[in-house]
Amino acid sequence: MTSTSRMVVRCDDCRTDWPEAQPRTRCACGGLLAIVHQPRFHGDALRAHFDDDRALGPLSAASGVWRFAEIVQPLSAPRAVSHPEGNTPLLHRDRLDRWSGVEGLRLKHEGHNPTGSFKDRGMTVAVTQAVRVGARAVACASTGNTSAALAAYAAQAGIPAIVFVPAGQVAMGKMAQALAYGAITLLVEGDFDACLRLVQEAGDELGIYLVNSINPFRLEGQKTIVLELLRQLDWQAPDWIVVPAGNLGNTAAFGKALAEARQWRLIDRLPKIAAVQAGGAAPFAAAFSRGFDRLVPVQAETLATAIRIGDPASYARGVRSIQETAGCVLAVTDAEILEAKAEIDAAGVGCEPASAASLAGVRALQLSGSIRPGERVAAVLTGHLLKDPGIVDRMHREDGMIPTPNRPEPVAASLDAIRRALHRRGVG
Ligand SMILES: *Cc1c(COP(=O)(O)O)cnc(C)c1O
Ligand SMILES: [Zn+2]
Repeated sequence: MTSTSRMVVRCDDCRTDWPEAQPRTRCACGGLLAIVHQPRFHGDALRAHFDDDRALGPLSAASGVWRFAEIVQPLSAPRAVSHPEGNTPLLHRDRLDRWSGVEGLRLKHEGHNPTGSFKDRGMTVAVTQAVRVGARAVACASTGNTSAALAAYAAQAGIPAIVFVPAGQVAMGKMAQALAYGAITLLVEGDFDACLRLVQEAGDELGIYLVNSINPFRLEGQKTIVLELLRQLDWQAPDWIVVPAGNLGNTAAFGKALAEARQWRLIDRLPKIAAVQAGGAAPFAAAFSRGFDRLVPVQAETLATAIRIGDPASYARGVRSIQETAGCVLAVTDAEILEAKAEIDAAGVGCEPASAASLAGVRALQLSGSIRPGERVAAVLTGHLLKDPGIVDRMHREDGMIPTPNRPEPVAASLDAIRRALHRRGVG
């Protein structure tokens, strides 16, 4: 890397460097590509740079992704395709402290992004890059949220988007977004893992720019979940960062963000990353329990459709994130996920099922003694409650889904009937 180039694209396997402005998202050798940065500042100067709205310019000052452009994609910031996105709240609720057993638990709510999930953070960078390389079309495979984000950002950029989703397995809110924003939506007769294989083959053949989670620019955008969290904590790293894990894009991005943050002296110690999977889609947790001997793909099954993935694409990088931070991987059941979701919802916070895996994981880690008393914990809520209204309907109408369902009350159209109904519920 020359002293004037602030970033380069490097192969994880053969270490070949590629120019940054080219359309390939994999090395010629088949290896995954990663962005290697050379920021102009370190330590206090880099932290001060992130706070300097006037130097950053209006677009970067407004976006929780482009604020960190210096270590994300420094060359694109002024012309980024940005909603803006990020700037998500870090929440605290006493009720969830009590339920999880962790005092002062912080929730980073990525459902507050423009299309309702953290996928917007990766997509603003990837679609900006698609424009930069002159892509004629962009494509991804998705369990739903990636397609919603891609559809929105491609519409903003004026580039056709093609999304490959598993037929009948995408939650209603996500499908609605892809259609509304105008993406060409292919309902593939197969699961997410089949979609991922197909989109790579189609991309190679048709010359379409791929924005799957192996796209190195998406991971750069997703790093900003951690960077923004650390900035909200005045750069005092917590002891744990707990995140739901499916394809392991976030697990990989978080590890990279933390390693870089320590290298450039933004923080002085590494939090442990805890990745939480659904029991029916837990190949990463299974590999962890065998000392990461190897990945054994599974046929994934869980109500948490955003993490219904049996063959995670970023496995090797996910392993590195867990090992480098001395973290762990665990699985929770769908019943535990729904119970955690019901708590998050009832606290007035709300999230989609996959997101609640993180809170279920926090409780499991507290009960097992992995999280010790007094440790500082931040958990990521990955998506918005309204992404999956179908599961909310089932939770509160069907028997046995959650401990205390909130049943809708049929009532006659008379004040007397309303009085009696409210009285039964303890009001009046
Ligand atoms: C994509 C997604 C996940 C899984 O993230 P990975 O990076 O694939 O591990 C979890 N929750 C939600 C809401 C998502 O959209
Ligand atoms: Zn290579």
